[in-house]
Amino acid sequence: MRAHCLGFPRIGAQRELKKALEAYWSGQISQQELERVGQTLRQQHWQLQADAGLDWVTVGDFAFYDHVLNHSLYFGVIPQRFQTNETTTDLDLSFRLARGRAPTGQDAPACEMTKWFDTNYHYIVPELADDQDFHLSAHRLLAEIKEAQGLGHTVKVVLLGPLSYLWLAKAYGNQQDKLALLDRLVPVYIELFSQIAGLGVACLQVDEPILALDLAPAWQAAFERAYHKLQRRDLCIVLATYFAPLNENLYIASRLPVSGLHIDVVRSGQEWLQALDQLPDYKVLSLGLVDGRNIWRHDVHASLDILKPAYERLGERLWVASSCSLLHVPVDLEAEQQLSSEVKVCLAFAKQKLAEIACLKQALLQPDAVTVQRASQEARQAYQQLEQSTRWRNLAVQQRVAQLTAQDAQRASAFEQRALIQHQRLQLPLLPTTTIGSFPQTPEIRRARAAYKQGLLSESDYVIAMQQEIKQTLAIQEELGLDVLVHGEAERNDMVEYFGEQLQGYVFSQQGWVQSYGSRCVKPPIIVGDISRPQPMTVAWAQYAQQQSQRWVKGMLTGPVTMLCWSFARTDISREQIALQLALAIRDEVVDLAKAGIQIIQIDEPAFREGLPLRQQQQADYWRWAVLAFKLSAGGVSDDIQIHTHMCYSEFNDCIEAIAAMDADVITIETARSAMELLTAFEQFAYPNAIGPGVYDIHSPQVPTAAAMKKLLQKAAQGIDKQRLWVNPDCGLKTRAWPEVKQALTQMVQATQELRALW
Ligand code: GLN
Ligand code: ZN
Repeated sequence: MRAHCLGFPRIGAQRELKKALEAYWSGQISQQELERVGQTLRQQHWQLQADAGLDWVTVGDFAFYDHVLNHSLYFGVIPQRFQTNETTTDLDLSFRLARGRAPTGQDAPACEMTKWFDTNYHYIVPELADDQDFHLSAHRLLAEIKEAQGLGHTVKVVLLGPLSYLWLAKAYGNQQDKLALLDRLVPVYIELFSQIAGLGVACLQVDEPILALDLAPAWQAAFERAYHKLQRRDLCIVLATYFAPLNENLYIASRLPVSGLHIDVVRSGQEWLQALDQLPDYKVLSLGLVDGRNIWRHDVHASLDILKPAYERLGERLWVASSCSLLHVPVDLEAEQQLSSEVKVCLAFAKQKLAEIACLKQALLQPDAVTVQRASQEARQAYQQLEQSTRWRNLAVQQRVAQLTAQDAQRASAFEQRALIQHQRLQLPLLPTTTIGSFPQTPEIRRARAAYKQGLLSESDYVIAMQQEIKQTLAIQEELGLDVLVHGEAERNDMVEYFGEQLQGYVFSQQGWVQSYGSRCVKPPIIVGDISRPQPMTVAWAQYAQQQSQRWVKGMLTGPVTMLCWSFARTDISREQIALQLALAIRDEVVDLAKAGIQIIQIDEPAFREGLPLRQQQQADYWRWAVLAFKLSAGGVSDDIQIHTHMCYSEFNDCIEAIAAMDADVITIETARSAMELLTAFEQFAYPNAIGPGVYDIHSPQVPTAAAMKKLLQKAAQGIDKQRLWVNPDCGLKTRAWPEVKQALTQMVQATQELRALW
């Protein structure tokens, strides 16, 4: 019997990797120093796994930027534009692919980046050329294996499997059928497996997460073909799947000629039972019981109901593991000084989870061991206390959710009627111009906020400083000639944290960083209890802002689904229940804003699609409650209040129905980067409400021209009635600098004026 983890976070408990990367990119440290930081982190993480009592340390999960990108380098998948004659290192080459730029080598447009399944981790999309060849160059991985072996560790290597690698890649040029490349890719894998085995490694974890997706038959069939060639006797190959149940793919996965299968028990309900039945006698079943996607403490006792029968059937062939890589949780709970002890005892970060995995194994082999008994007792006590604590349970909120009716989510009238009323009230011109909410977060703003948080700036001085910012930002918008203004979000650190801090039911870690992409990390807040809003959150700021201008100033809130998606959520009630609680808190804020005279209110939902389950089977249910939550948050105000929402992700085709069902009066979306391609979904669906397709990409430092924006708007107007079009950038402007923002918005207003004259 074996205990293992599928991967460990690489960023470091103190975000050492982030700091070293950024120092290296800006020329403050050498590549050697960066390498040393990487090496130290790897060694620390292996040691943690060994100390915890796991049977292997996992090698191959480390990456300076991204593990999918590492594979592209292993296989020589380097787009043409990066193939220059200059001498650079493989590390700089990988940074150029990821960011377009590195200390050595020529700049080139970076590769695309996209979400890793349903997580908030982003990987660098492999670019497959028309006639893509693969050739092996995995010396970095081999060196890491030797490094771990040199330290006396027993090594399990992790690789992304060939099918998942191809599936995640994007084919450029005429080569549309990525699968056609499989036969070229497999030999490289065979060679890599040989090299790994040649180093005396006995165990190989091959990740094929796409087995948890709805796969076309051609992809299903390809598994058999590929793994038939990849099988070998000298390596124990375990196929790892995670994030969702395997369903119909379980049959395929069970029958592949490999040594074993890992399934994510946290995300696949009772499927472990079927896996027990379907797996051939000789195979290992690795049960992913310790949640790699959330931060709650594992209760060994609760897992025994699964472990015991599985052990009876499989004996030594049963392995225990984390559900997926621990990449998606913060590193070490011990670093947290400010969490209340009542909450802290209920949590586990990556390091603590290693001990939990080891404990699962012990629970089977030595069920009476003190450590097992204690761990189980402590977990149950901790959760019991939390359950009973009045601080985290709010009966009034629970009742309010229970008593919700369909009516609560419904605006009084249908969109056409509301649009007339709003038109009368708002008196906006054709093609109203607006922005998405935030304006540049200047160093002064950050300094003031930091000083206020540290108690160095009094509350009243802080408020005055922020009001000053708001006033200036509004004056600039008036000068630019924008029609609907925003206060600029100067007072907000982060769109989720800002609200979480003002809601009952949330707690915050100090060091709970999780890698989002490259050197970027996020620190998701934690939903511990029932959500309620003790007092208005944004009303005073919004009211102040509206008093400074004759034009309409939008109220600005984060929606319930995004609040949920970008937090670590409790698991004792359903996600739907949590979303509804959040929705009620936001609804109350919307009502209060309206009472305070705010006529237009934007409820941001950038993560609306992100929460979508991977399996189609579960998607309808998600849309049902996600739409309900949004409508509930918006549904408490009269017809004359104009509700906006904003989304910025790149896929509407599979969810346009749900977007329409949200029934926001205006939706602003990111479309400039795709040259309005994303609008097609709205056009084809005949989306009825108003739309603001982004007319310029805020991620690019380039200032767009009025002509370019005019063209985009004309394109938009081909499919969407002009009367329903708004004009705005793709997203918020907080990461940009003022000079470029002013220039870009000047161009945007000019483009609009020219079109108004034409139309
Ligand atoms: N209102 C937010 C802003 O402008 C929206 C951010 C987002 O879409 N991620 O910053
Ligand atoms: Zn956005």
